[in-house]
Amino acid sequence: MSSAKLQELQKLSVRELKEKCRESKMKVGGTKGELLMRLCGMEKEKPKASRRMSVQAVNKWLEREGVNDPERVSKCLRAGIQKGYVDISGDSPLDNVFAEGQCSACENDIKATIRDLLYQPDYAGLDYEDGGLEATVKCPDEDCGAGVYVTRICCGSHEMDCGKFHNHCIACPGFGKCIGDYREEHCTSCGKHFFAGSGGQFPCSCTRSASEMFFPFF
Ligand SMILES: [Zn+2]
Ligand SMILES: [Zn+2]
Ligand SMILES: [Zn+2]
Ligand SMILES: [Zn+2]
Repeated sequence: MSSAKLQELQKLSVRELKEKCRESKMKVGGTKGELLMRLCGMEKEKPKASRRMSVQAVNKWLEREGVNDPERVSKCLRAGIQKGYVDISGDSPLDNVFAEGQCSACENDIKATIRDLLYQPDYAGLDYEDGGLEATVKCPDEDCGAGVYVTRICCGSHEMDCGKFHNHCIACPGFGKCIGDYREEHCTSCGKHFFAGSGGQFPCSCTRSASEMFFPFF
């Protein structure tokens, strides 16, 4: 767009600019400045709207990258991709190194690619007691081989963990979110998270009276 054209547009009223937007099948909301930018094709995308993908878009993207069963892919990872916390640029994005850290058992350096994290369990439970047998990321040292979890991918503040604090709630809407400690649970009554204890012995404060009514043997 030439600057002469822009000057031409600047002379128009907001109402006239909106009319032009409508003619070009563009959105008609916003200030005069925003309308001008839109008509010149220079409108800045709102960062939030452009960064967040839909649930379907994430699954489609995984399929395009050769993942046959996106529904089985870690929801923590998918939430991280959805929110733009995972770098999916490049020719072979699944091989991008996403996390780096140290093995908690032998202090070896560990790198985890997106591919390594595809099928990482969203809930590690008591796996930390067994050295991370279920973890998909392993220490590269053959004598060690300890499993590590990359947690909080969905929060944009990921870190490597033995698994004790890797607890991504899949009962939350969408892909869910990380809630930390393995003893935290999602309350199906109030939708909040609460400390349930290692054997789920503590009810959520919202249901305490109800559970006492329905389960008098508690
Ligand atoms: Zn190790
Ligand atoms: Zn939840
Ligand atoms: Zn998470
Ligand atoms: Zn509750």
